Amino acid sequence: MKQNMIVCGAGIVGMATALGLARAGVKDVMLLGPAPKLPLMDRNTFHPRVYAISAASEKFLSELGVWSLMNTERVTRVEAMEIKGDAFGALYLRAWQAAQTSLTWIVESGEIERVLQQALKVYGVHWIEDTLEAFERGCGQTNRGTELQASLWVAADGARSKLREFAGLRYDETSYDAVGVVGHLTTEFAHQASAFQWFRPEGVLGILPMPDTDDGHQVSMVWSLKTAYAETLLAMSAERQREELAESLGKATRGRLGRMTLRSQLHGFALTLASSPMIGENVALVGDAAHRVHPLAGQGLNLGLGDAQALVEVLIKREPFLSVGDPTVLRRYRRSRAQALLEMRLVTDGLKRLFDQTLPPLPWLRNAGMSLVDRIPMIKRLLIEAASRSA
Ligand SMILES: Cc1cc2nc3c(=O)[nH]c(=O)nc-3n(C[C@H](O)[C@H](O)[C@H](O)COP(=O)(O)OP(=O)(O)OC[C@H]3O[C@@H](n4cnc5c(N)ncnc54)[C@H](O)[C@@H]3O)c2cc1C
Repeated sequence: MKQNMIVCGAGIVGMATALGLARAGVKDVMLLGPAPKLPLMDRNTFHPRVYAISAASEKFLSELGVWSLMNTERVTRVEAMEIKGDAFGALYLRAWQAAQTSLTWIVESGEIERVLQQALKVYGVHWIEDTLEAFERGCGQTNRGTELQASLWVAADGARSKLREFAGLRYDETSYDAVGVVGHLTTEFAHQASAFQWFRPEGVLGILPMPDTDDGHQVSMVWSLKTAYAETLLAMSAERQREELAESLGKATRGRLGRMTLRSQLHGFALTLASSPMIGENVALVGDAAHRVHPLAGQGLNLGLGDAQALVEVLIKREPFLSVGDPTVLRRYRRSRAQALLEMRLVTDGLKRLFDQTLPPLPWLRNAGMSLVDRIPMIKRLLIEAASRSA
């Protein structure tokens, strides 16, 4: 089967890329990959993975026509952020301090997947629910033996991308020797549309606001913990996990949200920092297939959506005499992403390393720095704008 473009991988980034191309009027674009499973949710059940969606991603999803399709009862507006150092340092960012109504939105992965699938159907995008098993110079073969050919293949098949590997593209990966442990919690006190972050000796703890349930107030936790401890925690019985987290979260958050009770299964994701050349012969990489960052800034998906948006724009704006797989076009895509990717890599990795240091005077300095920034409105406004604008 010969196509103009094939997007390999039907995660959020792959679906957004295919939809962006279809909406721009590109006819022969195909999506290849298993469709995400969407179990039925009710007001007391939530997908394990939730994302902090930046203003830039919200704008892109709106342009794709899917933001307004999301169930508003499952989207939580974040109006403030409290960031605490590992000693006395503290930084409070509030949307109104930069004349904004929100910093970011918290949305379940499944809700974004649902609306993207719906829109892809409306646009009649050809979707092969299979996996790529072989690829060479623009020609691929799926697990069920379908032969595919395209001028441009978009690798959106995640961190373990087969397409990237078949195309012989590098993936420079550094392990943080840490696991992001995620789960939903019931809290004694309301989050009041705030997100929280604690830079702790055992790792960065992020608490994101979620809709209330019949059990009370709800938040989602992302805790990057050393691999050994995370594995011990994940292997515990549900009862033991609840006890362990009630105690360790109480200590880490100093009771900020009162009693915290685990109300879902815990899941773990190995944390790595990764980068790639972004392009190859007839191939462009997007999302986790192209890069990964530490989740402390909650920006991985936002970066991937930024890739999707940039690639669509470069492709539709190319000169009519250039094919979609032309190296000049692909190099434009790589250039358009270079700065955003470098900035996010430096910020997330730099912060992680800064809070890993235990030798004096670094612990004092980083906490003093945070508290100082908190007292300078100008810098705070810039930080708030950056937090809501990224990727
Ligand atoms: C703990 C944690 C918390 C995070 N929190 C946030 C957050 O708050 N905000 C944020 O922006 N980001 C966050 N991230 C990052 C985010 O999860 C990822 O960046 C995002 O999921 C990447 O999306 P993707 O579509 O590129 O890849 P994936 O979601 O991995 O999708 C890849 C798709 O490719 C398919 N596929 C795989 N192999 C093949 C094949 N051979 N052929 C065809 N299809 C294939 C898979 O089935 C899958 O559907 C977090 C990450 C972690 C680990």
